[in-house]
Parts: sequence; structure tokens; C-alpha cells
Amino acid sequence: MNDSISASSMQASRLKDRVAIVTGAARGIGATYAAALAAAGARVAVCDVLAPDVTVAAIRAAGGTARGAVCDISDAAAIAAFVRDVEAACGRIDILVNNAAIFANLALKPFENIDDAEWDRVMTVNVRGSFACARAVVPVMRRQGYGKIINIASGTVFKGAPLMLHYVASKGAVVAMTRALAREVGDAGIRVNCLAPGLTMSEGVIANNAWAGPIVANNIASRCLKREATPEDLVGALVFLASPESDFMTGQTIVVDGGSVTH
Ligand code: NAD
Repeated sequence: MNDSISASSMQASRLKDRVAIVTGAARGIGATYAAALAAAGARVAVCDVLAPDVTVAAIRAAGGTARGAVCDISDAAAIAAFVRDVEAACGRIDILVNNAAIFANLALKPFENIDDAEWDRVMTVNVRGSFACARAVVPVMRRQGYGKIINIASGTVFKGAPLMLHYVASKGAVVAMTRALAREVGDAGIRVNCLAPGLTMSEGVIANNAWAGPIVANNIASRCLKREATPEDLVGALVFLASPESDFMTGQTIVVDGGSVTH
């Protein structure tokens, strides 16, 4: 057996028999998370407001197991139905990655120019949506006596990044929810941790002109490791948080940003 075969079979067994949900996985970083969890051996269920067919097809083409649904995480009934379907089809739910958010399509703007409707929409999806997904999966995880919830925050929380006050506030709430929820569900064997990426060149970020030029350059200059981040840079920490290797960690936030903030 050569090294690459033994390394890939080790990788494929890390999440063997696990079932993982990834929200917001039709594109971008969520699609990369879903593919990585499947490559590590998990059966993956993805949802998004966009049809996640490309993500599902890519995982299946790589030999993984995936299913997908259109589901808006601001709609509690839709989430409940999605979670019910996943449990019925897969028999269990071990991992929830709360990745869906309003982010890459946002226009950067001074806080006085954010109206109430935009503020409420960002909070509803990014905060209430993550809460609602956790609320839907926790009963399943309680029955199993085991579960891993991975919330996706952002390095902007620790930097106080300007021009997206609603987004930064929403991700600050995600960090706070991680800590408080971990206290409530630890006795049930459920771990709740958080991954906070720095600016990452997802397809949505690349397509948004607001992120072009000096913002990216200044971000890179602020890092210990001076280069752009890609979605693949986040995969190691994500799979670690999903795997038994992190089973004695809960309530924590890991920043993966090339050392821009030291948290
Ligand atoms: P993105 O905006 O391209 O991806 C978000 C995904 O969530 C999209 O597929 C979108 O359709 C989906 N979504 C939006 N609203 C939804 C809803 N109501 N219900 C279900 N799905 C919904 O962003 P991305 O760059 O791929 O980022 C993914 C995650 O990482 C987000 O939580 C984002 O806040 C976080 N993040 C990204 C960066 C970055 O620089 N790219 C940095 C820090 C944190």
C-alpha cells in the first residue's frame, strides 16, 4: 500500500457511520464543507435556498453519499421537515454545520445606511436560522446521546470590521450562542463549537466587486501568513470539529484566518 492510499483510507474512516447536515451548501464554502465531510466518510445532507444539485452530484461522483433539499433556514417548519426527512432516510444525525448565512451578496455600507428591513433579514437568517437548525436537530442528538454542532462565525467579530454592522453583530451572536448552547446540551453528549474564518475567496466573494482590490490586499497584509484564503483552508478545522478527535471540546471558537486575529 502506498502512502497516498493509506492516507486517504484513514481520512475516509474518520467520520464513518456519521450523518452530517450542512446548511447553505449549494455553493461556496458550504459546498466545500459538505464535500470534505463526505470524503471523511460521512453521509451528507445539504440544504440551501438555492437548489444544491451540483453539490450533491459532485459528492456522489467522488464516491460519497449525499442528499439535498431546498430549504430556507428562516422558515422553522421547512427546517423541521428537512431534519425529519434526513433522520427518516439516514437513521441518525450526528453533525450539524450551521453555515447558511447572508454574507457574500451583502453590499458594504456605513451603518447609517443599513435600514431596518436589511438589519432584520441578516439577523433572521444568520442568528435565528442557526438557532432554529440547532433546535431542530438537538432532539435527535439527545436520543443518540451524541452530537456535534458546528456554528460558522467570522473573524470580523474579533476585528470589529467596518461597513457591515448587521453581519458582524449577527456573527457575534453566533459566537455567544455557541458558548451558551454548549452549557445547555453538554449533559446530553452534544458538543457545540464554532469556526470563525477570515476573509475567504469563496465564489460569492469573488463575484462581489465590493471585495475586490484594497480590502483583500489589506486583509492579507494583516495576516501572519500573507496570502489569500480558499475554502479548502477551512476544511482541516471543520473536519476536526466534526470528528471524535475534538470530543472533549465544547463552547469554543477556532479562528482560521492565517493569523490575522489571535483569539
Ligand atoms: P455565501 O453567501 O456564498 O454562502 C452562503 C450560502 O448560504 C449560499 O449558498 C446561500 O444561498 C445560502 N443561504 C443564504 N440564505 C439562506 C437561507 N435563508 N436558507 C438557506 N440557505 C441560505 O458565503 P460563503 O463565502 O460561502 O460563506 C459561507 C459561510 O462562511 C457564511 O456563514 C459566511 O458568513 C461565513 N464566512 C465567510 C467568509 C468569507 O470570507 N467567505 C468569512 C467568514 C465567515
